[in-house]
Amino acid sequence: MTDHKYVYEFSEGDASMKNLLGGKGANLAEMTGLGMPVPQGFTITTEACTQYYVDGEAINDSIKAEILGYVAKLEALTGKKFGDLDNPLLVSVRSGARASMPGMMDTILNLGMNDEVAERFAEKTNNPRFAYDSYRRFIQMYSDVVMEVGKSHFEKLIDEMKEARGVIQDTDLTAEDLKELAVEFKAQYKAKVGQDFPTDPVEQLFGAIKAVFRSWDNPRAVYYRRMNDIPGSWGTAVNVQSMVFGNTGDTSGTGVAFSRNPATGEKGLYGEFLMNAQGEDVVAGIRTPETIDQLRDENPEVYNQFVAIVDKLENHYHDMQDMEFTIEEGKLFMLQTRNGKRTAAAAFKIACDLVDEGQITSTQAVAMIDPKQIDALLHPQFDVAGLAAATPIGKGLPASPGAACGKVSFTAEDAAARGKKGEDVILVRLETTPEDIEGMHYAKGILTARGGMTSHAAVVARGMGTCCVSGLGDVSFAPGGQSFTLGGKTFTSDDWISLDGATGAVYGEQIGTVPAEISGYFGRIIGWADEVRTMKVRTNADTPADARQAREFGAEGIGLCRTEHMFFEGDRIAAIREMIVSKTVEQREAALAKLLPMQRGDFEGIYEAMEGFPVTIRLLDPPLHEFLPHDEDDIVALAAEMNLAVDDLKAVIASLHEFNPMMGHRGCRLDVTYPEIGAMQTRAIIEAAINVQKRHPEWNLVPEIMVPLVGEVKEFVFVKNIITSTADAIIAESGIDLKYLVGTMIEIPRAALTADEIAKEAEFFSFGTNDLTQMTFGFSRDDAGMFLDAYYDKKIYENDPFARLDQIGVGKLVKTAVELGKSTRPDIKLGICGEHGGDPSSIEFCQQVGLNYVSCSPFRVPIARLAAAQSALKAQQA
Ligand code: PEP
Ligand code: MG
Repeated sequence: MTDHKYVYEFSEGDASMKNLLGGKGANLAEMTGLGMPVPQGFTITTEACTQYYVDGEAINDSIKAEILGYVAKLEALTGKKFGDLDNPLLVSVRSGARASMPGMMDTILNLGMNDEVAERFAEKTNNPRFAYDSYRRFIQMYSDVVMEVGKSHFEKLIDEMKEARGVIQDTDLTAEDLKELAVEFKAQYKAKVGQDFPTDPVEQLFGAIKAVFRSWDNPRAVYYRRMNDIPGSWGTAVNVQSMVFGNTGDTSGTGVAFSRNPATGEKGLYGEFLMNAQGEDVVAGIRTPETIDQLRDENPEVYNQFVAIVDKLENHYHDMQDMEFTIEEGKLFMLQTRNGKRTAAAAFKIACDLVDEGQITSTQAVAMIDPKQIDALLHPQFDVAGLAAATPIGKGLPASPGAACGKVSFTAEDAAARGKKGEDVILVRLETTPEDIEGMHYAKGILTARGGMTSHAAVVARGMGTCCVSGLGDVSFAPGGQSFTLGGKTFTSDDWISLDGATGAVYGEQIGTVPAEISGYFGRIIGWADEVRTMKVRTNADTPADARQAREFGAEGIGLCRTEHMFFEGDRIAAIREMIVSKTVEQREAALAKLLPMQRGDFEGIYEAMEGFPVTIRLLDPPLHEFLPHDEDDIVALAAEMNLAVDDLKAVIASLHEFNPMMGHRGCRLDVTYPEIGAMQTRAIIEAAINVQKRHPEWNLVPEIMVPLVGEVKEFVFVKNIITSTADAIIAESGIDLKYLVGTMIEIPRAALTADEIAKEAEFFSFGTNDLTQMTFGFSRDDAGMFLDAYYDKKIYENDPFARLDQIGVGKLVKTAVELGKSTRPDIKLGICGEHGGDPSSIEFCQQVGLNYVSCSPFRVPIARLAAAQSALKAQQA
């Protein structure tokens, strides 16, 4: 036997041991310590779960022996014994991870029963109905949870029995009926499992413990962890607790209650109970539970005792509690307490109320809110009843949050046309391209068959605050693209679909949505967050409208303006295409001259919207073929428009074609080959800044010009020279003293590794972790969705590295670049503008490595403000 301790009695633990005992176990221990009526038991630690996996999914002998030792202790404590006919020990077995996790193992109640125990139990309690009801429930739960024989097999037997007896309710079945059911259940077990139902309580116990450990890795739990940044290495604890019974008769009962309303946050007891019932009856909906205040009439003494316990627990945990209790023959027992799950609206109200009640400080209020919940406040959500009644027909990547419902639209033009008329449409595409921008704008939601979390659709939808599900490979388009099938159903432009951008679920029906609603509580929490935060929060915005939206959400500057996103609007696309097909420098300069005033105007609008806050504008990044048509009809039309032979245009398009993942002629390479592009963009940026500075002398504009995709200091120097020579001449002529910065994206591994050299020349770094992730992993950001699921299944990855920064690999490059950059330019300004800049766990990493700011899409700015505050608090504590 090792000296490592894997099991704790409730009286040995406390709430601070959550990592080891899981949330449920730590709180049972804490309540025991507070002298509350808790049926006693023990907790098998999360480390035992980890060890179970280390040992090849087996409980090793020394842990087994330790568990048996604690069974003996529990027997001594309760005076009951496993398998004893006069005084049998019956227990519940429940999972309990560090963070409460739906999707894991359900509870097993009444473990320890067998034929003899049930028979004597019936005699001793003088309540055979109760005894056999408990027994048949145990067989049913054990078969379902431990051996995965579906519940329905047993429910069918119950239904048949009720029909045979001519009764409607389960409660109308007699003791004899239930006894007979237990026999049928065991036969069903044997038929399905191929073995007799275990009669030995110890064998039952180890079966149940293993089932809990196994459930840690079931697909629902793994999915939930991925969505909530819970590492697989945490494991789950197992709680073994002596049974108390709510189903012994009319003076017994069971219930669940919250200390505040979990939907609205309103203070006051909120919950339900059922007399003469056990565990799952309350939630199963077979009988209608009573509201908790009716308990006052039922049993005022127990009610008052319960209210006092609830108050004590709230004042102790300083948070809303979610509790389970059982009344056994008039005596109250607490089975569980935990910080209750709540809606986003309730979360903000409760946190503010707790501050006002003097229970917590404003800093604690900031720390207690999950930043991801903010999504639910800023985006429309499904109507709860509608969602509950709907069944998903497919699941893609949760690319941009919110709920959307509309009729299917297959092209951007159609979506724009119908959207303008006020119709709700969902744009459904194989993937989106910059050309689709207008249709994306008018769509309520976007669904793509291809593309990952940083695909065009995902990034643009997030920027617009539009719901998007990407990478749903099961969508199969009919030839001609005027219908698609999913989940066995065919959809045309007359059919409704609904998307949940927070989970990736797609529904083949109309589900109502409720609009976003921001309360005053939200403003108070975010205000407190700003007081503790040390990193700035900027936004990725490409248009004045996005910039204004981001300012409303509190952005303190623009960390990335992708200039190419403006090129599809209005007349710009014609000028851009003219530039691309130019054969000489003169032709190209003439085309660029047409673009200059438009770009300058855009930049002025952005500077105005940002009211003097810093703005980083990036030079053109994508490969030029993105701006050219690819359909035959469009090519012919464009050739006519541009006075070109169709074949000549086709030759240009072919020469520019690139294969995924577009690692060719893009980024600063465009400026190396066509310096006039960088010169024009610099002119537009500097002239815009001068114009706006003149209009607003009270602002101090310092344009930040950013060079994308640098991998070698010499290429940066080459582009920087174009920028400085252009800018300096314009500034000298303008007569005002405008300062500006030239910096670079760090998005190529070689740039990170040579950051000391680059920092000698670059005045700021912005980590482009979308490309850096793509290039470090060596797979395309657009195609990763095709195989990531297999990687999750095989436990190779726990998360999508395009959504959550891979801190081990990509993070090492970021950290290296920070250190190298600071070694040659100690005051270098450091930020991140990849999509990770809006992800809470990645933001925490940015704080740890010492970035000055994070930049994210406008709708994620409030999330980033809260996450940055929490990161600062964690850094203070560390
Ligand atoms: C990046 O690569 O992280 C980035 C912000 O640039 P883009 O997504 O435009 O390539
Ligand atoms: Mg990039």
